[in-house]
Amino acid sequence: MLKSKISRRLIFSFLLITITSLSLLGMYLLQFFYNENLKTKTENLIINARTIEVSLEDALYNPAKQDYVNNEIHKISDATNLRITIINVNGQVIADSWEQTEELDNHLLRQEVQDALHKKYGTSIRYSDTIKENMLYAAMPVYQNDELVGIVRTASTLYPIENSYKHIRNTIFTALCITIILAVLSGFILAYRQIKPIRQMIEDAQKIADGDLDRRIYIYTNDELEVLAQTINKLTTNLEEKISEADAETRKLSLILENMDNGVMLLDTQGNITTANQRARDLFRLTPDLMKKQSINAIGSTLLSETAKEVLKTMSTKSIAFKININHTKKTFDVFFAPIINSDNTVISILSVFHDISVLQEMSTRQTEFVANASHELATPLTSICGFSETLLSGALKDPVLCEKFITIIHTESERMDRLIKDLLQLAKLDSKEYRQQIKIESVDLKEVCLAVKLKLQAQIDKKAQSLQLNLPVEPVIVQANTDWIMQLLMNLTENAIKYTPEQGQITLTCTLDQNKVFVKVKDNGLGIAPEDLPFIFERFYRADKSRIRLDSSGGSGIGLSLVRFIVELFGGQIFVESQLKVGTSFTFYLPK
Ligand code: ADP
Repeated sequence: MLKSKISRRLIFSFLLITITSLSLLGMYLLQFFYNENLKTKTENLIINARTIEVSLEDALYNPAKQDYVNNEIHKISDATNLRITIINVNGQVIADSWEQTEELDNHLLRQEVQDALHKKYGTSIRYSDTIKENMLYAAMPVYQNDELVGIVRTASTLYPIENSYKHIRNTIFTALCITIILAVLSGFILAYRQIKPIRQMIEDAQKIADGDLDRRIYIYTNDELEVLAQTINKLTTNLEEKISEADAETRKLSLILENMDNGVMLLDTQGNITTANQRARDLFRLTPDLMKKQSINAIGSTLLSETAKEVLKTMSTKSIAFKININHTKKTFDVFFAPIINSDNTVISILSVFHDISVLQEMSTRQTEFVANASHELATPLTSICGFSETLLSGALKDPVLCEKFITIIHTESERMDRLIKDLLQLAKLDSKEYRQQIKIESVDLKEVCLAVKLKLQAQIDKKAQSLQLNLPVEPVIVQANTDWIMQLLMNLTENAIKYTPEQGQITLTCTLDQNKVFVKVKDNGLGIAPEDLPFIFERFYRADKSRIRLDSSGGSGIGLSLVRFIVELFGGQIFVESQLKVGTSFTFYLPK
């Protein structure tokens, strides 16, 4: 119990109050009794002295009656147990009930005698060497015919008063001791009662502090402690709510963080990676055991750690472009660094966000390439047109042979430009999301489209003495698409087959169906495509084997196949190519039914 500070304080306060109040009261009472006894004793002594003075009157200082006085005072002394002394004005002792007068010295300078000479009476307390006790003296002046003739002094031992004083003091001391024991006992009981609910509260509060937020304190003392317990319970409920809110918020944030498209890392002030989200871990192959030891440099560039250092120093955000090869693929990231500053204005950590802008970068590169290619493709025929028209104007017009030759070239180049511009316009249309959303989806019978294509291209086929064979099923081949764009798709593939197949070559157009798809194959036995060109033939402006002499003098734009793939994918299909140089090429695509 004494381990508890509150108990100790309670018991000691209790004791202190008891001891102090009892001691003060005891001392006061003791002093009061002593003073009262002393006062009574003094009064008695004075009365006795007065009585002696009155009863002996003239005999007192009459030398003839000395024996009589001596006898009288001895009688009174025996009866009252008082010492009686008769002193003359010079201080000489004339008679004394306890001592021989001759043995006594002059009493003039005794305190009580001096007081009695000047006042109504005098008193004093002195230790008596004769009886080895304290004595109380009272002296009364004696007047005869208004003249001071001597002093009657009575004296009594103080032993009875002092004895009763000691007795009372011991009694009070014993009472004090008993009271102290009782006070300690009741202090213990009181403290135990007061401490018990506090102990329970401490125990419960410690469990709450250790994380047991379902615990509540049940104290019904009907006092401030009960209010305190209820307040702690309310506090715990609030805390529980706040923690679950914070938990939900943290879960939400970590879910966002883990599933976001950007790589996010936290670095310590040394530049080591402390935390990384799923995307960052996947991108840079960060394993959890490496995480805290690994510097951001390990990702592949000191630029990152240098930027982190700068952010740490300047305490401001910074963005950098960061290029890296991941799995043989070039990646470009826009990396954003931000310091995490705590309340005492020091950086505790650095946030880095890796935003993959490779696709954007690629798009921008492609766009630049596209503009360059398109300009180049348009500039080539335009240069011819300009050159030949200038030659014509500067005199060649007069030569009919040259004139026809040049105008034919100008016409061919104009047609080429026209085709190129039409292709570009088609591509631009398909590039526009708005246009794509407006495309009308309808049931298209591929059989009919194939027949129409054959009809349209028959003249070109005949011109090269080629044959175009159609292998079509009996039943209609319906897909959900757009007739015009499907027509464009098949025209491009068939025109290419005609273009890149020598005279008398064979071209076949085959349609087959399975449960959910429709397959179309455009096959020729023409020039074929080199294996190194195959991966790129669907790219815009890509032309395989540029040095190869085109079989068709009009030449191509390199856009046709990119349009083909665009259309196939627009309607949910895919296209594949198989080719062998000097053997032939076959393009196969499927569309969902
Ligand atoms: P182009 O307008 O040059 O024909 P395309 O995009 O239609 O452009 O074709 C890209 C390249 O693919 C062509 O330049 C050609 O080299 C090659 N190619 C396309 N179809 C065939 C084919 N049937 N046979 C051989 N080569 C082909």
